[in-house]
Amino acid sequence: MKITRIETFLVPPRWLFCRVETDEGHVGWGEPVVEGRAHSVRAAVGEIAELLVGADPLRIEDHWQVMTKGGFYRGGPVLASAVAGLDQALWDIAGKARGVPVHELLGGPVRDHVRAYAWIGGDEPGEIEEEARRQVEAGFTAVKMNASGRMSPIAGPGEIDEVVDRVAAVREVLGPGRDVAVDFHGRVSYPNARRLLPLLEPLTPLFVEEPVVPESMPQVRSLVEASNIPIALGERLYSRWDFLPAFQAGVAVAQPDLSHAGGISEVRRIAAQAEVFGALLAPHCPLGPISLASSLQVAFATPNFLIQEQSIGIHYNDGNELLDYLVDPSVFAFSDGRLSRPTEPGLGIVVDEAAVREADKQGHTWRSPIWRYPDRSFAEW
Ligand SMILES: [Mg+2]
Repeated sequence: MKITRIETFLVPPRWLFCRVETDEGHVGWGEPVVEGRAHSVRAAVGEIAELLVGADPLRIEDHWQVMTKGGFYRGGPVLASAVAGLDQALWDIAGKARGVPVHELLGGPVRDHVRAYAWIGGDEPGEIEEEARRQVEAGFTAVKMNASGRMSPIAGPGEIDEVVDRVAAVREVLGPGRDVAVDFHGRVSYPNARRLLPLLEPLTPLFVEEPVVPESMPQVRSLVEASNIPIALGERLYSRWDFLPAFQAGVAVAQPDLSHAGGISEVRRIAAQAEVFGALLAPHCPLGPISLASSLQVAFATPNFLIQEQSIGIHYNDGNELLDYLVDPSVFAFSDGRLSRPTEPGLGIVVDEAAVREADKQGHTWRSPIWRYPDRSFAEW
């Protein structure tokens, strides 16, 4: 079998898909994208694809090594995401060629279903309790919220209380039998994070995510030690080499993104690395259907998997939904906040190619918001 053609599709709301075609009729799909930098990743996929056309798609590990290291310069969001999407597509082909779902190739299932959480926002304080209630009614057993909107670099008591009150309100709705995860989104400064973590401790969050921006890795150990709340991070880390200092600092939950951190091949390895440090895997996935399908394949084959993010109804998906590009959306049907094991070959989904080709004509120009403080200086989003 040989790879004959690689195409990319820029589809709303903010995604990029790749399609890898072979001379034996098997087609693999991947989702190589960085939110807000889809065009850059598209260009990177085009360059890296030169290494694959004409090659045997089943030599996945060799391709991963060459795609990742063969350009001399390596790593970072754009290059690692380009590799990630192509890697997903190669695994999709490998599963389809052998007639099994990818998790069967990763050692077989280790669980019967995958727990997922629902996103409930948090930038707008008034709506958050209502949204939590809605997700409980939909059957979810865990939700994730932003801790705050824009926050002063050293917050006063009003801002600090607002964060704690908002999480407390959600905890009240959830009761003791469900979980709330709190995302600091790198927008909470180091001193604010130090102050907030002990105050949130009595509310028993599932974890606090990105307590600081990823480049502040030297501060992570002291944040791990600031409370007993498990610290999660990793959506802006791209390889096992990036993750090592996080695990050494005591991070409890690793959140690599299947579309950013080198794909199924590398996330699988990051999970194994996490296991050495007693950490758990909770893949980041505010993205599209191919990214979620890839996440699930890893989740079903990974013993130290904790919980899956997913973006159905997320605020970014303006106008288009996660299920729009699937022939049969029932593969992502939740029951009690859980997803069942995909049984179809490859990634377990059938991409609606006609819908994707049509959507690519429209494309998108989604960009991350730029936030500013009242004095107009830059604020982390
Ligand atoms: Mg996050």
